[in-house]
Amino acid sequence: MSDELKRRIESRRATIDGELVALSNRLHDDPELGWQEHRSSAAVAGVLAAHGFAIEQPYLGLETAFRATFGSGPFVVGFLAEYDALPGLGHACGHNLISAMSVGGAIALAEIAGETGISVEVIGTPAEEGGGGKIELLERGAFQNLDFALMAHPAPVDVAEARPFAVAHWHVRYDGKAAHAAAYPERGINANDAFLIAQLSLSLLRQQLPAGVRVHGVQTRGGEAPNAIPERTEGRWYVRAETMEQLLDLEARVLKCFDAGALATGATLTVTPESKHYAEMRTDLEAQELYRDNAIRLGRDFDVDPVAATMNRASTDMGNVSQIVPAIHPYIGVGGDASNHQPEFAEACVGRAAEQALRDGATALAWTALDVALRRMDATFPPRAE
Ligand SMILES: [Zn+2]
Ligand SMILES: [Zn+2]
Repeated sequence: MSDELKRRIESRRATIDGELVALSNRLHDDPELGWQEHRSSAAVAGVLAAHGFAIEQPYLGLETAFRATFGSGPFVVGFLAEYDALPGLGHACGHNLISAMSVGGAIALAEIAGETGISVEVIGTPAEEGGGGKIELLERGAFQNLDFALMAHPAPVDVAEARPFAVAHWHVRYDGKAAHAAAYPERGINANDAFLIAQLSLSLLRQQLPAGVRVHGVQTRGGEAPNAIPERTEGRWYVRAETMEQLLDLEARVLKCFDAGALATGATLTVTPESKHYAEMRTDLEAQELYRDNAIRLGRDFDVDPVAATMNRASTDMGNVSQIVPAIHPYIGVGGDASNHQPEFAEACVGRAAEQALRDGATALAWTALDVALRRMDATFPPRAE
């Protein structure tokens, strides 16, 4: 039965091929930053509405979030759609493809939803790149009704297992005191030197950090004039670790390095989180294997260089969703030499290879959702009367 259902899912996906590619290209041509994805979220929800999904937008008070629902079966599958872009880099993380894959998977699965007892949802989740949109939605009650949550993320190569870091996003600010750098230097407090001390301390701390954790950031404001002692400096810093527990410990040590800058210069330090903490991913291993098998059946290749496979380790607020709902977050390859967050990767997220990834990803997600639903439905819900 499942093979026939899968054939129908794939042929339904094929009928909307042009719409999916057009949606992906439209998002790619008009990148919007996190929390500002007004046109993007409307475009994604618009395609779902045109195919019979009921839309709630804004969703749970978030302007650029939405929820699209189809069917009333007892097993609820949630496809997650990200559509935010990166400052200065456009869709260099390929979220245009994430949206198109989730939309394609959801519409294709809806084709057989009624007869299989599945309800299909798509949740449009803003601001993945540092804003933690899914965490905001989670805390407002989203996702809790789902029996299975899924999405696929573009990457250089196909990797079924996602191992994202837990991460904290910080805005860091030092307030010193301006003074004429030549005439009255003794009256100043140098907020730029505070950053220098912090960066130096972080570089030394790295020697003693466990393998695999990450501390990185950029200074976004360094001073205004060479002849004035910098009064205010600012930056954005990320701290990443294998688990939330390890992250909390690491954060305390990194904070001391920023404290050192304040202590040495007399500047005042203010650290403000830019999002809530992203958790590590808790992957549903059975579903992950089903995804892998389905993707291989569609011709995807997981026989990649193991180094390339482990390299693509970032963080995602899908980690937080995966802590409460069985979830997968596989990577789908768009080929080429570029990797996420490079300008060349944005170029790789449109064109032939990207379109093939979009087709395969949409179908593989829908097939996997079906497999998971069929396996778990009888265990979770009483048998339906025939
Ligand atoms: Zn990214
Ligand atoms: Zn991303």
